[in-house]
Amino acid sequence: AKTLLEIKNLKKYFEISQGMFKEKINVRAVDDISFSVREGETFALVGESGCGKSTTGRTILRLTDPTDGQIVFKGKNIEKLPYNQMRALRNRMQMVFQDPYASLNPKKTIRQILMEPLRVHNKFPREERLEKINNMLKIVGLSEEHLDRYPHEFSGGQRQRIGIARAVILQPDFIIADEPVSALDVSVQSQVINLMLDLQEEFGLTYLFISHDLSVIEHMTDRVAVMYLGKIVEVADTEELFANPRHPYTQALISAVPISHPDEEKERIILTGDVPSPANPPSGCSFHTRCPFAMDICRKVEPVSKEFSNGHKANCHLYTDSENKEEKEYAINH
Ligand code: SF4
Ligand code: MG
Repeated sequence: AKTLLEIKNLKKYFEISQGMFKEKINVRAVDDISFSVREGETFALVGESGCGKSTTGRTILRLTDPTDGQIVFKGKNIEKLPYNQMRALRNRMQMVFQDPYASLNPKKTIRQILMEPLRVHNKFPREERLEKINNMLKIVGLSEEHLDRYPHEFSGGQRQRIGIARAVILQPDFIIADEPVSALDVSVQSQVINLMLDLQEEFGLTYLFISHDLSVIEHMTDRVAVMYLGKIVEVADTEELFANPRHPYTQALISAVPISHPDEEKERIILTGDVPSPANPPSGCSFHTRCPFAMDICRKVEPVSKEFSNGHKANCHLYTDSENKEEKEYAINH
């Protein structure tokens, strides 16, 4: 399939003041990541909270400006696109948020909430808009009866259906969904996921799916990038990642997912310690403070990417064969 989105060496640093002397330091929220998303697929970004996955999503949509790197959408560089042009592009790229309640204006009816993007982007002839809205409500499992109600009159799952309707009604190519089911009851989660999958098929959507929940990722995505402290540490097809996780962090995340077949044996890798602050990331491999396999070199040299099979890559010294100059030098000197 064709590439819809390509991210090259994307960085997003924030400057914060810290301590008694208000010392300025850079937080490397997203630290030099690259990946590409193919047309029609669901690409996942997974990792613990604070790893930079939401910032990545927001930066791609230019809700915040990147510090460096390229964002190529449909063959066009958009990382420096002026705001007015970016705004025009937003009907091609939409976002679904974690908390549908916070993202829906409580003072507006569903009719107003769904009409607004159509008006802003001048989508469909005026006289057809209401019909499009009714149609979209039906598709997401609501109906005309709900048009003049307010967000608080709906359940969490219904509100997320409205948030999804608002994104899809513009007929975008690409939707970034940031933890779209994390705030919902487990029983409702799979309904919303199945709705997203149906919409993907019906409208030919491409998803960037951001989540910390590996069981959701396993169920609904095609490829996965695992993030840790602002970096991608492993990327693979979803099936391959779950069958053969290579990076110790990925292995730990997967081993923590509850087993669906209780007779299956599974070895758990328990991670010790907290995620270090991205304001002060560890040297070398930033995972070394929690990695059960950390070696001497891990504290000193950042591992480079190693490809295992078609498209399956991980950054870990356990696998690198000393091709890296720095690693080689280190190995020779020790
Ligand atoms: Fe663990 Fe070292 Fe691999 Fe990092 S490079 S994940 S510390 S073994
Ligand atoms: Mg987040």
